[in-house]
Amino acid sequence: MKAIVKSKAEPGLWLEYVPEPEIGINDVLIKIKKTGICGTDLHIYNWDAWAQSTIKVPTVLGHELAGEIVEVGSNVNDFHAGDIVSVEGHLVCGRCRNCLAGRRYKCANTLGFGVNTDGGFAEYIAVPMTNIWKHDPDVNLDVAAIFDPFGNAVHTALAFEVFGEDVLITGAGPIGIMAAAVAKHAGARHVVITDVNPKRLDLARKLGVTYAVDVRDKSIADIQKELGMKEGFDVGMEMSGSPSAFRDMIANMTHGGNVAFLGIPSDEFAINWKTVIFNMLTIKGIYGREMYETWYQMSVLLESGLDIEPVITHRFSYKDFEKGFEVMHDGNSGKVILDWSEI
Ligand code: NAD
Ligand code: ZN
Repeated sequence: MKAIVKSKAEPGLWLEYVPEPEIGINDVLIKIKKTGICGTDLHIYNWDAWAQSTIKVPTVLGHELAGEIVEVGSNVNDFHAGDIVSVEGHLVCGRCRNCLAGRRYKCANTLGFGVNTDGGFAEYIAVPMTNIWKHDPDVNLDVAAIFDPFGNAVHTALAFEVFGEDVLITGAGPIGIMAAAVAKHAGARHVVITDVNPKRLDLARKLGVTYAVDVRDKSIADIQKELGMKEGFDVGMEMSGSPSAFRDMIANMTHGGNVAFLGIPSDEFAINWKTVIFNMLTIKGIYGREMYETWYQMSVLLESGLDIEPVITHRFSYKDFEKGFEVMHDGNSGKVILDWSEI
C-alpha cells in the first residue's frame, strides 16, 4: 500500500510502497479517508533534535485520522466493517497502576501512533479496538480527521470550570483557536486569545473569540482594562509553548486562578514563582485526551452546535503532502487535511 514514510534519517518524508498492516485478534483494520497534519509531523519532517532522538526509521507517519473499518479481529465484537471511526493516538500499556485503575490517559508507558509505531498516513492502519472512537455515519470526515487535536483543545478547555468566567488563551494555533471556541460554547464570558501572527489572530476572530490580541502591539493588562475586568483572568490555557506567553499569563491571573498548560516549551524556563504562591494559582499539565471522556465531550459539543470546521484552512490530496507541509511550515495555516480517497 502507499504510505508517507520517514524512511531516511534526514529532513523530508517520502511517499512509498510498504506492506499492508496485519491485524491481531483484538485489532481492527481501517481504510484511511482523511488525515490531519500535526505540528509533531512537522518536527519529524524537519528532523529536529527531538525527532532524531525519538523516531526510528522507517516509520509511517500520522496520528490524526478518520477512516472506515474494513476488517475486525476474531475477538472484536463491538466494531464492524463499515463503521466510520477516528483513532486515539496514544497506545497505553493496560498494565500500569493508572491503566488498571481505569485512568488510561495517565498511563506510565504511553506510545504514539506515527511516532513510536506506524501511523495513519497510509491506505490502511491496524489499531487495537481499545483505540477506536466510532462516529455517527454522517459525521463530517474532515472534522473527524482532527478529533485528536480537537481533543487536546477540549481536554484543556474543560480542565477547569469556564461557565461565566474570563478566559485567557496564549497561542492562536489550531489547538488554541479550537479551545477558544469550546470555552465560548461552554459559557465563558470573555475569551481573549493572544498570538504574534496576524493571520492566526484573524482565524481566531472567525471562530468567535471576544478579543484576539497581538501581544507585540498591546499588553494583556491593557486588554483587561478595555474589557472592564478588575481582578484578572479566572482560567488560563497555555497553548503556545512560549515562556514569555506563560509569564504574561501568570501575571494576569486572578487570585486563586486556574491555568491549564498544554503548549510544549522547547527548553526549561524560569517563572516568577512568588506570583504563583502569593496569588495561589493552580497550574495543571495537560497531555493528550482523557480516554474516553474527552471523546464523548467532543462528539456532544459538535452535536450541540459547536462548529470547528473553519479552523481547517487547507485541503490537499495525500499525493501533494509536500504542499501541506509547506503551508504548515509557513505558520499561516489552521489545520491542514490530506485526502486519501483517490488511491
Ligand atoms: P502551533 O505551533 O500551531 O501554535 C502555537 C501558536 O503560538 C503559534 O500560532 C505561535 O505564533 C504562537 N505564539 C508563539 N509565541 C507566542 C507568544 N509569545 N504569545 C502568544 N502566542 C505565541 O501549535 P498547535 O498545534 O496549535 O499546538 C499548540 C501547542 O500545544 C504547541 O506548543 C504544541 O506543541 C502543543 N501540543 C501539546 C499536546 C499535549 O498533549 N500536551 C498535544 C498537541 C500539541
Ligand atoms: Zn499503562
